[in-house]
Amino acid sequence: MNLTGLHLLLTYRCNYQCDHCFVWSGPRAVAKHLTVDEIEEILHQAVRLGTVNTIYFEGGEPFLHPAILTQGIELASLFGFRTGIVSNCFWAVDATKARERLIPLVEAGLDMADLSVDSMHGGDEGVRRAQNAVTAARALGLAPGTISTERPENGRDYPSGQGGAVMFRGRAAVRLADRVPHQPWQGFTTCPHEKLADPARVHVDPFGNVHLCQGLLLGNLFEQPLRQMVADYQPKDHPIVGPLLDRGPVGLVERYGLPHAGGYADACHLCYTARQHLRGRFPKTLGPGHIYGEKSI
Ligand code: SF4
Repeated sequence: MNLTGLHLLLTYRCNYQCDHCFVWSGPRAVAKHLTVDEIEEILHQAVRLGTVNTIYFEGGEPFLHPAILTQGIELASLFGFRTGIVSNCFWAVDATKARERLIPLVEAGLDMADLSVDSMHGGDEGVRRAQNAVTAARALGLAPGTISTERPENGRDYPSGQGGAVMFRGRAAVRLADRVPHQPWQGFTTCPHEKLADPARVHVDPFGNVHLCQGLLLGNLFEQPLRQMVADYQPKDHPIVGPLLDRGPVGLVERYGLPHAGGYADACHLCYTARQHLRGRFPKTLGPGHIYGEKSI
């Protein structure tokens, strides 16, 4: 596995509670956040792995912990990593505030900012704040990327940047999947989004869980060194990744004889639903529970 990026979920908490969120973030999500000491431990593990060059800070909403975010970026820069953030920009209430919140991060060494600009995050006011953040980031020399998620019924409301359709997993599977036409379940024979055979990046949550896809775990780096996990990874033999590589989400249904509906909104909808059925059987591989709506918010 040639892992070049670690994306740290500083917190599962978020000021918004978006319907399309993969990880059930919201104001009442689990309170645990990464500490500066834990970030430093993760950075040491990234150095020992030897292939990582980029550390992203995201969530939930990372700006809910501005001091930890700033120190994390500073540390990661000192360790020699390129650094990035992903944010919904709730903090950019006007041009002055946007600049004030970004300056400490730029001074700490921030290289990249991916900013959500769409009405799925906070409606029209959310878009206005995000545009303040984009303007401030450009003025500070950050060349921000924008992420714009399409509304299920009527597409994108911000035309530039990355983005695309909702992926129907997490809260999106529960809240949004019925708003789009469903396709026959037998058609979802590949994973369209993740390079599960050879992932280039993984997400690390506040508990140390290392996610190949949200809720699909490689292991826990507070319990086992990341370098060991990567060395031991045999995707074809993994109980969830193996079937996904063979036949996509359909492979999970077939391998484990799972119940299923006639149709699903997309591949992630079938995958997430199949994984919910399997969580009791593979609790260390499929978790934490709230990503499957178990302590939901
Ligand atoms: S198909 Fe499954 S593994 Fe692939 S991106 Fe969707 S939820 Fe993740």
